[in-house]
Formats: sequence, C-alpha cells, structure tokens
Amino acid sequence: MDLLSARLTALSPSETFAMAQKSNELKASGIDVINMSVGEPDFTTPEHIKQAAKKAIDDNFSFYSPVAGFPDLKKAVCEKLKNENGLEYTPAQIVVSGGAKQSLCNVILSIVDKDEEVIIPAPYWVSYPEMVKLAEGKSIFVYAGIEKDFKITPQQLEEAITPRTKALILCSPSNPTGSVYTKEELKALADVLDQHKQVYVIADEIYEHINYIGQHESIAQFDSIRDRVIVVNGVSKGYAMTGWRIGWIAAPQWIASACSMLQGQYTSGPSSISQKAALAAYTGDQSCVGEMRTAFERRRNLIVDLLGQIPGLKVNNPMGAFYIFPECAGYIGKSYNGKAIKTATDLAMYLLEEAHVACVGGDAFGAPGCVRLSYATSDENITEAVARIAAALEKLT
Ligand code: PMP
Ligand code: GLU
Repeated sequence: MDLLSARLTALSPSETFAMAQKSNELKASGIDVINMSVGEPDFTTPEHIKQAAKKAIDDNFSFYSPVAGFPDLKKAVCEKLKNENGLEYTPAQIVVSGGAKQSLCNVILSIVDKDEEVIIPAPYWVSYPEMVKLAEGKSIFVYAGIEKDFKITPQQLEEAITPRTKALILCSPSNPTGSVYTKEELKALADVLDQHKQVYVIADEIYEHINYIGQHESIAQFDSIRDRVIVVNGVSKGYAMTGWRIGWIAAPQWIASACSMLQGQYTSGPSSISQKAALAAYTGDQSCVGEMRTAFERRRNLIVDLLGQIPGLKVNNPMGAFYIFPECAGYIGKSYNGKAIKTATDLAMYLLEEAHVACVGGDAFGAPGCVRLSYATSDENITEAVARIAAALEKLT
C-alpha cells in the first residue's frame, strides 16, 4: 500500500460502483437481488443511435479523432445548446471527452490549484470531492437537508466563499437527491457569484433531460457570470448511453483549450464510434428522450408514494434525475439479531443482505442520515423492492 503515491492513497473508491459490484456478486451466487444502487437508465440505447455507430464502423471511423472531438459533433452540441438552452457557444468552446466524469475531472484539474477551495453543496455526487483531492484542492461542503429540498440558499453560498474559493460545483437536476433548482433560485445564486469574480461555476447538467418541471434551466444563462460558467453534460443519462462514454463541456475559451491540452496528453479524443453515435443522438429524432422521461416520471410517482408509506422514512418529491434520497435517521442506531446499524452504509448493507435490495448509504454523498435508491428500473421491481425494504426495516429493534 505504501508503494502507492500519496495522491492515490488519499483517494476513496466509488461507493456507487462498489455497491453495484456487491449486488452483482450476490446475484451471480443465485440470489434475486433488485439493484437500485448504480445510477443508470435501464433502457437500451435507441435504435437509430446504434445504427449510426454501426455505420461509423463500416465507414471506417477507426482513426484518432481530433483531441477535442469531431467538428460535426461539436457543432451539433452548439446547436443543441442554442436550441434547447438559448446559449451561444462556438465549436472551439466545446471539448468532448470519455464521459461527463472525464469532462468534470478535466475542468477541476485545469482550474483548481493546491489548497484552493471548491464549494460542493451536500448531499453531493460521490466523485466531486475525490476529483478535488486529485487536484490537491480543498472541498468546502455546504449542507442542505430534506427540509430545504436539499438545495442550498444564496446566504449559505455567500458564507462559504473566501478569497481562496476557486469554484462552485452545482448539480441540477441533482444526483443523489433528484432536486432541481428553479430559474429564480439559480438567479439568486448567480447574484451572489456576481460579487465574487474569482469564483467559477462547474454546472453539472448531465440529468438535464430527466426533469419533471419542464424547461431545463442552466446557470450559464445569466450574463453577469456567463464567462465564469463551465457547462458539463453528455449523452449518458438522457439518451441511455452510459457505456458509450461521451461527455462534453461548453466553457470559456481558455478553459476549453486547457482541457483539450490535458486530454491530448492523457487520453486523446474519446472513441470515434461513440462520437458518431452521440452525433446521431443530438441530430436525430428526440422522441426517445421524452418517452424515457415519461417512464421515469411514472416511476418517481410510484416510489414516492410507496416509500412515503413506510413509518420513519422522510421523502421529498424529486423533480428530476432518477434518484430518491429518503432520510432514514430513525433507523440508524437500531439493530438486528444483535448486530448494530451504526451508519447509513450499515443500513444499505443490511438492506442488501436482508431484503436483497441494493442501494447506497448516504455517507458517501455527505448525508449520513439518508440512503440513495435509483428508480431506473421497472415498476414491478420498484414495488417489490419497497415491500422488501419495509419488511426488513420493521425487523429492526
Ligand atoms: N455527474 C453526475 C452527477 C453523475 O451522476 C454522473 C453519472 N455517473 C456523471 C456526472 C458522469 O457521467 P458519465 O457517465 O457521462 O461519465
Ligand atoms: N452516476 C451514477 C451513480 O452515481 C454512475 C456511477 C458513477 O459514475 O459513480 O450511480
């Protein structure tokens, strides 16, 4: 272990993937596990996107792409940003990477220096603090609980900013809470940031298309801070393409150039075939996006209703993504057969072993009283999983 670099020694493994792996191992041993741990659409990639990838293979797109992505894909991203979000970008401001995860890491490594602070609203997605660690920056967590619909206020943001603050990472719709900031809420945060010219905003909008409010609102729409916003997005969630590994940023030119340089030394451009598939996603028929969103919304309604009936669980009504983040603090401290449930991660392990439902403890998301369930699964699985959870929780004393 001490042969590892200090950088790696400080890093934690991704808890979302760890729980998914445990769930898969149990499944492989013949146990009927309902996996609500890792967050990815259960739908397969739409047919016309798959066709475009097959054609790209036949058309010999087998060579390196430009480091920042094919020009036609970058142009399609600009058109998407203009038509869907009312945002003007040039293709030179777009960098396509191997998933939104790489896009985020590129940006953080490009702009955060040792000991600079990055404000991360909690509950947060597991990878943000780890990426900040890689950059040797310092994560500053700002907590907003279920009573605030898990959304930070402008006052909280103001109080967290110091002269060392380099960036805010804002995820809306949010993983792990499903919360969505309204345009007014974003404007209020933008007004605070307007007063602190050294702070950049990394706007993680990967769940843009899974939004039950209607129009997606980007914090990049406010001109006062526009030149300090980096939009991060991709095809993984909205187009059911997690395995294709295509994400992108739309950023101020100097940040886009830096990310491209970093990527040029580190991974080169992402898969040429996947880029052609992503191009088809953005330029093809969009009805698949709405169909998947409608299914997610129906499942959201179902799970909110069912979990709401379990005594001791508090649920909000998430307006986007496909996660629900019940507060279950009342069950932490209980025990089963003499074994104490000390943390939300213990509770998630108990639910995996006892109910055969895989979820992720809130500790990994900076929310030790909650667990995260992904409802990107069938209505039948949701109904069965919640029944099993209810029965297992009832056994705790
Ligand atoms: N941001 C958030 C909030 C996510 O949930 C995910 C999904 N893992 C990502 C970024 C990364 O997405 P991708 O699969 O495109 O790397
Ligand atoms: N976004 C998904 C999740 O949070 C995928 C796993 C990951 O990238 O960590 O479960």
